[in-house]
Amino acid sequence: MIIYNIENAPFIQEMCDITDKLWAKGWAERNGGNISYLLKEEEVAPYLNVNDIKSETEMPIPLPELKNKIFLVSGSGKYFRNVIKNPADNLVIIRISSDGKKYQKLWGLVNGGNPTSELASHLKCHAVRLSQDPEHRVIFHTHATSTIAMTFIHDLDEKSFTKTLWQQITECAIVFPDGVGIVPWMPAGTIDLGLESAKKMEYCRIVIWAHHGIMGAGSNIDDAFGLVETVDKAAEIYLKAASVTTGIKQSITTEELKDLAKVFNLTLRDGIL
Ligand SMILES: [Zn+2]
Repeated sequence: MIIYNIENAPFIQEMCDITDKLWAKGWAERNGGNISYLLKEEEVAPYLNVNDIKSETEMPIPLPELKNKIFLVSGSGKYFRNVIKNPADNLVIIRISSDGKKYQKLWGLVNGGNPTSELASHLKCHAVRLSQDPEHRVIFHTHATSTIAMTFIHDLDEKSFTKTLWQQITECAIVFPDGVGIVPWMPAGTIDLGLESAKKMEYCRIVIWAHHGIMGAGSNIDDAFGLVETVDKAAEIYLKAASVTTGIKQSITTEELKDLAKVFNLTLRDGIL
């Protein structure tokens, strides 16, 4: 039985907060960025009849491993800065059908529209992260400015890119010991981009899309946001230091990163140091 107004649900409030913050950071211009949040049926049930299916849509790739799972997703073409003003117009709750071939709309997009055009990427990445981490819940994509800028001036080998990021701030290796994955530029919204991103998510939680943005995964919104913030802060420091005419005179060394790993008992991704 539905007893509460869904717009007061913690998961809707969290989504309003994160989309507003991403816009305020300048990472979600116009309709840039998309987010999907895996919800538990027991979280949703007080707010929504999960058996009231508004529509069903075939998915471009079947994902039986996500059958019956419920996701709160941003809408295609919707502006993050508007979510806080009208969540029901900008967000949608979908459930994956029991055969994993369709998604069913349960709530939202009250004035029409579709889930994010990156839905295939998101769902494939959710499936991969869940196979690695049962606590996984959130995937989001944003146009993190410094990270995008760094993809123009640093080589795109993901191991050397990871090492450079680790060398900028001590916390980096602690926050993302599994490093970053990098997908070369490819058109947005394609299945290929989704599949390439998902391959990277088998071994790390950050995938950088060269000259486009970043995709982050986490066990909750704070976790995913904190991860992306840390990567982008490191990229910002790298850009600032690299742009000074005197050049970079020193940074955290390979030996110092190894010491850090010992002190914090980190398992740093192989082949980087
Ligand atoms: Zn984008």
